[in-house]
Amino acid sequence: MSQDFPQRRARMEYVCMDCGHRHPVDSLLYTCPDCGGVLLLEDLDFDEMKARGAQYWRSLFDARRATRTRALRGVFRFYELMAPVLEEEDIVYLGEGDTPIIEASPALEKSVGRRFAYKNDGQNPSASFKDRGMAGAYSYLKSLVRKNGWKEVLTICASTGDTSAAAAMYGAYVGEPIRTVVLLPHGKVTPAQLAQPLGSGAQVLEVPGVFDDCMKVVEYLADHYRVALLNSKNSWRVLGQESYAYETAQWFGWEMKDKALFMPIGNAGNITSMISACLKMHRLGLIEELPHIVGVQSEHADPVWRYYSQPRKQRIYRPVTVQPSVAQAAMIGNPVSFPRVKNLVEKFEALGGRFDVVQVTEQAIMDGMILVNRHGHIACTQGGESFAGMLQAQALGILRDGEFCILDSTAHALKFSGFQSMYFEDRFPAGYGVKANPGLVNHPRLLLSAEERAAMPAGEFTRAAALAVARAAGLNARD
Ligand SMILES: *Cc1c(COP(=O)(O)O)cnc(C)c1O
Ligand SMILES: [Zn+2]
Repeated sequence: MSQDFPQRRARMEYVCMDCGHRHPVDSLLYTCPDCGGVLLLEDLDFDEMKARGAQYWRSLFDARRATRTRALRGVFRFYELMAPVLEEEDIVYLGEGDTPIIEASPALEKSVGRRFAYKNDGQNPSASFKDRGMAGAYSYLKSLVRKNGWKEVLTICASTGDTSAAAAMYGAYVGEPIRTVVLLPHGKVTPAQLAQPLGSGAQVLEVPGVFDDCMKVVEYLADHYRVALLNSKNSWRVLGQESYAYETAQWFGWEMKDKALFMPIGNAGNITSMISACLKMHRLGLIEELPHIVGVQSEHADPVWRYYSQPRKQRIYRPVTVQPSVAQAAMIGNPVSFPRVKNLVEKFEALGGRFDVVQVTEQAIMDGMILVNRHGHIACTQGGESFAGMLQAQALGILRDGEFCILDSTAHALKFSGFQSMYFEDRFPAGYGVKANPGLVNHPRLLLSAEERAAMPAGEFTRAAALAVARAAGLNARD
């Protein structure tokens, strides 16, 4: 064991969000064996850590940013806040976590009229935040393989694209005895997202339909076959994704006062992680005030927004049928983690935390993504959704003066370049309801045809091309 790897181990249990029953973590559970409810992991010895005082933990986590111990370089910098049951040898580290927080470009801040930043979770190894959760799930899975001597483990997940990319990459790295199967809604993931699990050598299976259909299929499989489910129904994923909030608080010197965290909601795993992490930091005293958390949903996939937009006492949760959405990775009508959100939001609000969900148009998401990327950011469509959410929150008056917004760009822009092309060519299928704003459109321009080049005398091309470039770009000759 490396010298700085923590010695202390804690006891952990799964807690059911419906019936409250507790279950030991020595087996991989997705749902409560007693009632079928979703689970969250709880550290029974968490409050022991209070004895050291918050400053001890802040300093430890700050010092750990410089560690050369691989197992503590990624999301397990916050080992004690996440999974203090794992051994160093179990932990899989592929460079996930520690993603940068980039303040919005000066021109963009000026046009919005408020200071804000992007946390670029597309700078994870498979280019989305899902790597955080996979590091959690695979590390736990490795510990089970080690303890049980399993000879074959088949992992499976349903995906809107990024879960399968991450699952396949970690599975390929860990290797024997892990085998990865991913299930995708045919034609509903981007070419880049399809290329990723194929390139990692996973078995890629597709069915017609949308993500919600695939989710039902893998749930059926998890109930009837020996498979390890890697969707965020798996609470070890949610645990790994808590690292986003820990990193954010740490970056701001453990000060969350006047900070608003914006993120898209799809299956609601990521927002669950965010609230859970903030509650833990608050409980330990790492942060004194809870941040403002704002979930964002597209008008084409908005069951969580619908729930929270009803008057408090009359709230009823109903799944929705999704419409085509450019925020395709969040195009989910029946989020698996909704009961977790509901449960945690109650605790969060009871402690004075502000929680909101806003709804945005498809048009605002696309315009948002294109606009921020024209200012040097690398937002995916879901990152555009976070931006649109901030504008919407501002318009609704739910942001206070001086609140600093941190927008989650959950994946890298490159994964979603197909939507950018549709925008630039103004050819969105009718179902999306998106039109290009001509002021944001950009096209390549061919200056000389291959025929024109072929017709030129040898040695003429460079000068002719340079002249054409100078004319097109409006260059002035040197005196
Ligand atoms: C998975 C995903 C989401 C949605 O996150 P949930 O945890 O399902 O709410 C948003 N953006 C991207 C890029 C994703 O891959
Ligand atoms: Zn239960």
